[in-house]
Parts: sequence; C-alpha cells; structure tokens
Amino acid sequence: MLTSINPATGKEIATFELHSDEYVDAALTAANRAQRKWREVPITERVGLLTRMAIALRKGKSTYAEMITREMGKPIAESEAEIEKCAYNCDFYAEHATQYLADEPVISNATESVVAFDPLGVILAIMPWNYPFWQFFRFAAPAFAAGNGAILKHANNVPECALAVEDIMREAGCSDGLFRTLLIDASKVAGLIADDRIAAVTLTGSTEVGAIVAGQAGKALKKQVLELGGSDPFIVLADADLEQAAAVAVKARYINVGQSCVNAKRFIVEESVAERFVELFCEGVAKLKIGDPNERDTNIGPMARANLLAGLHAQVEKTIAAGAVARAGGKPIGGDGFFYPPTVLDHVSPDMVAFCEETFGPVAAITRVKDADEAIRLANQTEFGLGSALWSQDTEKAKRLARKIDAGAVFINGMVASDPRYPFGGIKRSGYGRELGVYGIREFVNVKTVWVG
Ligand code: NDP
Repeated sequence: MLTSINPATGKEIATFELHSDEYVDAALTAANRAQRKWREVPITERVGLLTRMAIALRKGKSTYAEMITREMGKPIAESEAEIEKCAYNCDFYAEHATQYLADEPVISNATESVVAFDPLGVILAIMPWNYPFWQFFRFAAPAFAAGNGAILKHANNVPECALAVEDIMREAGCSDGLFRTLLIDASKVAGLIADDRIAAVTLTGSTEVGAIVAGQAGKALKKQVLELGGSDPFIVLADADLEQAAAVAVKARYINVGQSCVNAKRFIVEESVAERFVELFCEGVAKLKIGDPNERDTNIGPMARANLLAGLHAQVEKTIAAGAVARAGGKPIGGDGFFYPPTVLDHVSPDMVAFCEETFGPVAAITRVKDADEAIRLANQTEFGLGSALWSQDTEKAKRLARKIDAGAVFINGMVASDPRYPFGGIKRSGYGRELGVYGIREFVNVKTVWVG
C-alpha cells in the first residue's frame, strides 16, 4: 500500500494498492509487444504522439499543477511552470526528433554507408518526486520519438502524479501497453532490470540509489543514464554585477524549495565583495514568502517529506557546530507541515558538511575565497559535477575559467536550468549520460552502421 501525504499539512491524501507481480509481468509483455509495432511506425508519424502529449498536458495544466503541489508541496506557480515546460519539451522533440535521428551518411569505400539510429526497446524509468512530471517527460518525449517503449517506476510519495502521467499518455493516444506506470516497491526494481523485456534503464535520483541501479544494470549489461545529485557551485568574482548576481542567486538556491539537483548550493565568493554580496543575498531571502504552496505569491512551501527535512536540519546543525554562522533561518518552522525556512550559512569552510555533502533543501552555504584561482579550486573540490555558475563582468575571463570547472554545465552570469535545446547531465558522482538536446535523444538508440558493398 502506498500513502500519499500532503507535506503542507502532514495529512494523508489517499492510499493506493501496489501493483501485483502478475500485473507487472503482463505490463512488461504488453510493452514489448507494443514497442515492436511502434518501432515500425515512421518517425515522422511517431512525433505526432509528442504533439498530442503536449496538448493533453496543457489541457490538464491546472489539475496536474494542483496535484504536484498537493503531493510534494511545490509552490503552485512553479507547478504550473513545470507542466508548461513538459509541454514545451514535447513540442520541441516533435519538431526536431526527425532531424536528430536522420540517417548520417559516412564517406567510405562502400557503395553506400550510413549510421542509422534504431530504437533499443522498452526503457525502465526510475524517477524522483522533485519534478514529478518534468523528470518523466524530459526522458519520455525523446524516448518515444526514437521508437522505444517505457515503464515508469515513480517515487512512492507521488503516486497520484505517477498515475496521472499514465492518463496523459492514454489521452495522447499512446498505443496500449507502450507505456505503463507501475506502483511497486523499490525492492522490485532489481527484478525489472534483470528482465529480458527491459532493454535499458534511466534513473534520476540520489547518488546512493544510482550506484545500486548502476550495479544491477551493469550485471545485466544494460545501458544506463544516471542523473544523480549535485552540489553546484555559484562563483561570484570581485568584478561581478553584485546586485544581479545576488538576485539570481536567491532564485537559483530557493526555487523548488531548494530541492533540485541543479540548485546553486555552494556560493563561492571573492573575499573583497563577499560581505556586500551576503547582505544583498540576505535582503533577497528576507523577501521570500513562506507559506501555503497553493497561494500564488508563495515562494517557499514545505519540503516534500518529513525525513528529508530532518536530514537537512541535521546537516545545518553540524555545519553550525563546526563554526559556520547562520545569517538567516537555521531551524524548522514547526507545525504539521514540513516547513524549513530559507537558510543562509556564512563562513562555511570546505571541510564542513554543507560544503562536502549535497544539501537538498532551502540552505545556502557561503564560502569566501581570496581569488579566482581559489574559487575554481574549491568549486571542483566536490564529489559532484552537475551544473555550475560563474559571475564576472569580464566575459572573456569567465569563458576561460569555465573550461576549468569540472561539471556538465557552466552558466556565465546566469542560473543553471535544463532546456530541451541543450544537453543536461553530469560527471563524477552526479552520474553519466545526457538528457535533452540531440545528445539526449541518442542515448536510448542503437547506433547502427549500415554498409552496402
Ligand atoms: P531516491 O534516490 O531514494 O529515489 C529516487 C527514485 O529511486 C525513486 O523512484 C525511488 O523509489 C527509487 N529507489 C529508491 N531506492 C531504490 C533501489 N534500491 N533500487 C531502485 N530504485 C530505488 O531519492 P529520495 O527521494 O530518497 O531523496 C533522497 C536524496 O536523493 C535527496 O535528498 C537528494 O539528495 C537526492 N535526489 C536527487 C534528485 C535529483 O533530481 N537528482 C531527485 C530526488 C532526490 P521510492 O520512492 O519507492 O524509494
């Protein structure tokens, strides 16, 4: 049995029966059968499904946004933006997939030789609660366009969203069985990965689960894309536009109540401007409205689960005990919901918990450095390598420094955000493989050489 809990109230929303082993078995068989037919449909027709997915998403936007807010606490305006982004992603791949997967001629000694991109089969998608629609549609739009089928094992605190995704696919006219949501315990995933009817695996989630899934997929010799944690640096150099940097920094840290893999988490600031930057940052933080996530002007709703709040607070306490200074927040708000205030920890040194570990909630860690070289060194002093931001008005210098940062993305004078137009993913313990852009759609394909003598 799964229980969905409203994190703003701590109250139960609904319970859901888990799917039986028989249901799971039938879903895998149906997905395989459907995928074999789907792969024969020309891509120019397959992309029609994506267009209809976008229509279904936009039509149900307010229903789905309210569902996200109810199940994981995202402020409603951000939930609506999430649904819009899913629809945009579907439209984007509907427009570009045919070109991204067109045969590529190769000049060789053959009469004719091309690289073709064939589908892999049925992909198992293990997805998290933090963007319960986006994480799925980001993967799914290119995967379906490429001719694959999909099985979704969603996070068990968002079962309503998980089932709504299935409704959207049905409404879009997805052929029976090509996609299925499974409400199952995480312990059942190993069996799915080992099953011959699953061709490959994609996971967005924690580094710990990433290592488990990678091991299982490795044993079964199945392709994986892993989108894991991050502890993104947000570097502010002495020549940055401080007002703008601080304003963007507030958004970059506190969007989605700080529960995104690409939230800015470690603010690495040149000493000479650090005090001014922290003042501006704290002024911005003071303006954030904490409260009911259903209200349109709320910036900070509850965290998604009580255990995530407890874990975050333990990290804050350890960091303060080690000598950091709380310039804002620092203690749970209390009450029935899982509210944690936007927290600013200043004078965080690289040996402290908020620097070394990912903080998945509304906590900013500020570290002061003597110069740009030290900033880059500390930015890279992490086991993660997902996104990063670098602020300087000297764009040429910033571009040079960007190449020294060990991360899947560097945003100069801006905030890291995923976008269907360019690839998204990490290195080191942030995972491997890419989503989005042309690179994303080519992850779950058989890159096939066709040689004609
Ligand atoms: P998890 O990594 O535990 O969950 C992500 C997904 O993996 C869920 O669908 C979950 O299912 C599933 N899962 C859990 N255990 C296993 C397993 N042994 N085998 C296969 N699948 C499994 O994340 P949490 O929700 O517990 O969040 C914990 C931390 O993970 C966060 O604090 C954050 O650091 C990180 N995280 C990162 C995200 C990102 O965007 N990169 C998103 C969410 C979390 P179930 O819900 O049933 O456990």
